[in-house]
Amino acid sequence: MKKTVRLIVTEACSRKCSYCCNNLSTEFACAKRVNIEQFSAVGYDELVISGGEPMLVPTLVETIVRKYRLPTYLYSALYTRECKRMLNNRLFTGISYTLHEKFGLNDRYRFYRLQKDIQEMPWVSARLKIHPSVSHMNLGIVEKIWSRIDRRPFNDDACPLPENEQLFILST
Ligand code: SF4
Repeated sequence: MKKTVRLIVTEACSRKCSYCCNNLSTEFACAKRVNIEQFSAVGYDELVISGGEPMLVPTLVETIVRKYRLPTYLYSALYTRECKRMLNNRLFTGISYTLHEKFGLNDRYRFYRLQKDIQEMPWVSARLKIHPSVSHMNLGIVEKIWSRIDRRPFNDDACPLPENEQLFILST
């Protein structure tokens, strides 16, 4: 069995990134589409919560994470109060946060809050990915809190799934 299970909890997102993998349905040919009753993370070593934007459905995310209690990594671009609470309650082992194109004032504030909060949660493993259109901005990055900062260009082959992951898409 594959080591990691990656679950797209929602395909919905408030952003409209030009490079979004969700626009490339062929990229997810290997995915299994399931409903919440059919999904199981039993037998995997770790769980990755992805989207769309998972923080649009925080209650669903919390229900799934609490059910399996696996090392869990969140992929998000929307830092919210619910996300902070879940990080604080150690429901996530780590967060992979992306600063996307069309980065606005709200995004800047959320990023400020995230960095501030993570400094008080040393147990959180945090990775940052920055879109090239954002990387020239003065973001006030606190380098020491990020285990990895990825400034590489976003490209067309950014979507394929790592080999040891099983991908599920949750039907709503
Ligand atoms: S934030 Fe992610 S899911 Fe949302 S549109 Fe951008 S790439 Fe797609």
